[in-house]
Amino acid sequence: MKITEKDGIHIQGEEKVVADSRNSQGDINLVSHAHFDHMHLSDSEVVCSELTAKLAGARAGKEVKRTEHDRVELYNSGHILGSSAAKIKGEKSVLYTGDVSLRDRVYLDGFNPVSADILVVESTYGIPAYRFPEQRVIENRIKDFIQNEGSPLILFGYSLGKAQKIQKLAEQATERPILAHGSVKNMNDVVEESAEKEFRAIPYGENKELMEDNGILVAPSNTSQSDWVEKLVDKTGAVKAGFSGWATTDSFKYRGGYDETFQLSDHCDFDGLVKLVEEVDPEKVYVQHGFDEEFASYLKREKGFNARALKQNQSSLTDF
Ligand SMILES: [Zn+2]
Repeated sequence: MKITEKDGIHIQGEEKVVADSRNSQGDINLVSHAHFDHMHLSDSEVVCSELTAKLAGARAGKEVKRTEHDRVELYNSGHILGSSAAKIKGEKSVLYTGDVSLRDRVYLDGFNPVSADILVVESTYGIPAYRFPEQRVIENRIKDFIQNEGSPLILFGYSLGKAQKIQKLAEQATERPILAHGSVKNMNDVVEESAEKEFRAIPYGENKELMEDNGILVAPSNTSQSDWVEKLVDKTGAVKAGFSGWATTDSFKYRGGYDETFQLSDHCDFDGLVKLVEEVDPEKVYVQHGFDEEFASYLKREKGFNARALKQNQSSLTDF
């Protein structure tokens, strides 16, 4: 069996499995979740959850043809609604986590690890510096902030996943008006249609004046330093808050120009990653994204796992 990271993860066994690739084709094509960097763009059939097919289809503006495969089992990976880890059965089983979180958060259940011979795991926060407080503590801090902050608020998060969790926490915390930026509102509509969730937020574009009436705006994180945001802050005295696992270090606050930050993440923290690997208990671990080298060497050194980082275009033959 050969495992390679190039355009997504390529697993060459009896059949070729391609996971989370935008362009490459395999005998089996997997889509773990509906974030754009993982979305398959060809018209071929993909193995994914029903919800991921709906969300990805709505985002791409075309039908995503979903299929199943008797060698592939999907498990909720706890990253965003519909996200799946995939276990590929064969002489040796391979568990591919995609983006993953073990924590139950707001309305989403975390991943329950399953055993496998080979594990391919993400390592976005794969160094000990990235440890998050308990989820209950993080969510209470966010709700306290929303309740106690008297100024208008702008809350920034990725438009699919994070933005909806922030909105739910705001709904629980306050009766103040909640406004959704256009791209967040689009994702709310898709989630409401596909996942039987409801959001109280009204469109920002038609209700801008409510920001002067202590409104709470939820906007995509890539707009945190944009001109319109700066103007809105000047005009209303709004306070800006960012939500990410990167908020563990101060640089996130400076880079995003935030007044407040919270460690609300859709990924495992360092301890979560270690726990995941221990529970899967594989013979071999491949690590991808973020602190991959660091996490692989930690697993080798401290936990005795046969672990290595998957590097772009570097094949790894697993010799069984
Ligand atoms: Zn993702």
